[in-house]
Amino acid sequence: MAANLFSEIEYLKGVGKARGEKYRRLGITSPYELIYHIPRDYLDFRTYVPVQQAVLNEYNVLKLTITKKLPLQRIKGGLVICKAAATDGIDDILIVVYNNVYGFQSMQEGVCYYMYGKVTGSFLRKEISAPVFIRADENVLIQPKYPLTQGLSVNMVRQNMKQALDIMERTPFETLPDNILRKYNLCPLMYALRNIHFPESETAAELSRQRLAFDELLKLQLGMSLMKKRSRKSTAFQLDKNISVDDMLNGLPFELTQGQRSAVDDILCDLCKNVPMNRLLQGDVGSGKTVVAAAACCFAARNGIQSALMAPTEILAAQHFRTLSGFLEPFGVRVCLLTGSVTAKKKAALREKIAAGEYDVIVGTHAVIQKDVEYRSLGLVITDEQHRFGVAQRAALAEKGDSPHKLVMSATPIPRTLALIIYGDLDISAITELPKGRKPVKTYAVTGKLRRRVFSFVRDRLSEGRQAYVVCPMIEDSESDLHAVKSYAEEAAANDLKGCTTALLHGKMKAAEKDKVMEKFHSGEIQVLICTTVVEVGVDVPNAVVMVIENAERFGLSQLHQLRGRVGRGEFESSCILITDNTTDECIRRMKIMSSTSDGFKISEEDLKMRGPGDFFGNAQHGLPPLKIADIACNMELMNRAQVCAREILEEDPNLSLKKNSALKMDILRLFSKDIIG
Ligand code: ADP
Ligand code: MG
Repeated sequence: MAANLFSEIEYLKGVGKARGEKYRRLGITSPYELIYHIPRDYLDFRTYVPVQQAVLNEYNVLKLTITKKLPLQRIKGGLVICKAAATDGIDDILIVVYNNVYGFQSMQEGVCYYMYGKVTGSFLRKEISAPVFIRADENVLIQPKYPLTQGLSVNMVRQNMKQALDIMERTPFETLPDNILRKYNLCPLMYALRNIHFPESETAAELSRQRLAFDELLKLQLGMSLMKKRSRKSTAFQLDKNISVDDMLNGLPFELTQGQRSAVDDILCDLCKNVPMNRLLQGDVGSGKTVVAAAACCFAARNGIQSALMAPTEILAAQHFRTLSGFLEPFGVRVCLLTGSVTAKKKAALREKIAAGEYDVIVGTHAVIQKDVEYRSLGLVITDEQHRFGVAQRAALAEKGDSPHKLVMSATPIPRTLALIIYGDLDISAITELPKGRKPVKTYAVTGKLRRRVFSFVRDRLSEGRQAYVVCPMIEDSESDLHAVKSYAEEAAANDLKGCTTALLHGKMKAAEKDKVMEKFHSGEIQVLICTTVVEVGVDVPNAVVMVIENAERFGLSQLHQLRGRVGRGEFESSCILITDNTTDECIRRMKIMSSTSDGFKISEEDLKMRGPGDFFGNAQHGLPPLKIADIACNMELMNRAQVCAREILEEDPNLSLKKNSALKMDILRLFSKDIIG
């Protein structure tokens, strides 16, 4: 059988077991995936310099003629060093190739090549090592740079790529219908794939990249839309705008900020419409989103409608339950807590009451959306930090009730465009200011050498009556050098924090235990909480003013920002101390960003740039496929065009069932895991 695009990668000529293994390490298992192994950048051989001008210890492009190939040198350990003398016509240079006899053999004496490699040596004696090279008489002078792995050279990839493209060419396919190609001024797919790997010119490469990036963004949007298929049907819960919640808002111990007030207005207004609300409430950590949710729940309850509030962790659910009860019970709104760890007996009783409508607000973890929970009139569903929920849970949530109104709350200031992809077509309310009197959290990055001083600082705050968190990345000691809460807590209790009340909190503890610890921390009985990232989102203890983070290098920027958001939630000056012994440039850069800004939006954009949207939410749960070509953070314009295009396609063909869209649909199915789209 002849190889096709989806054959194993080993079907390609020259790809044996060993090379196949290397490809697989890069995530490439078939010719199709090889073709979508998109070069990061190009090498422009036209930028060559004379040997004399080569910058030492840097990569340079040179144009060299091989004057003499020297005998191979075999040294201990099986290493083979190949050398050749070469000249640019004026100066000589030595070419050195390690362990690549095959590559070296293809260089010929008397032939002129463009070479790209690191130049070392001195002014008088220079060497260029392991260069990428092409014959100077080859007329393609722009070459791709690929993400590679040890033992896989550009030339190997190029050779295999040619063959893969030839296979594709035999049954050329185009994923986009003609009219779309014309309208959005896109080059044909086959052209784009050839030219992204073997560009005829810079312009061709650029056009190709545009096309492929557009494809990627389009597929992303279409895929997400197919997953959501948001019903546009009318809601059964059109609430009465004459009902007021002003008494509840006036009864709060604080005055709402401008942003909170307009968010409440937006939401109440949506709830009075006959189409379901689909709104994202975005506000940095500590901006006070919970009270906005409470107002919405109160409004729903007074309309005789139940609300569900779903939190990603039990700790947070328990806290929301306490907060909402506090805000709402005095006004006759009945709140309950339903989590996975509630005993079966209690759960059954709760379920009964929920079905009978005896609770107005049901707070919980994803337990609130399980099939066995029946509501009397679920009209408002609120999810806190929704991006932490999996795709499946979100889908289950969407199916609950009779087209309920939906409110999503997030502290992650997702750039708007990305939010639109993840959540679909939604409206956004943003709380841009923090409540009055908040002081920015002072952030310091230090090495472990200063740990003693950090603890003495912590003790000073404790003696003033404040509380603190210490976060470690691990629960138990492991082979890694990472700090683990269990041993850390013991050690600290015996030494640095002797005499203080400390407690341990991590994800493996039983829910009831966690609850008890959190309650004691809330009440101030526990002074220092030594914990894992279980406290990352939402936890609200305004008396806690120090956040110490061990192995800070282990956490993403958004995660650090969330952790830091646990302090600075009250009137007291707060600090966040990042401890890391990692001195890589990247780590230093991240620590600098953290200590120089408290702007969650900026941090999230940096995070997005560093990690790409695939990783942006910490794990693969969000169901977004990784983007290889398009860079959302830098490509808003293209993103918007793709979005318009996606809408246009779906308007005509909502399920992508027309023949002209079948190739596109196949591609989307490949991109997203197949079981997501029905
Ligand atoms: P987040 O937006 O991170 O979920 P929370 O809703 O947990 O923030 O609120 C953070 C803290 O700020 C809580 O202790 C809350 O009671 C308090 N808070 C909320 N709104 C205001 C306000 N307008 N003025 C003062 N404090 C407020
Ligand atoms: Mg919150």
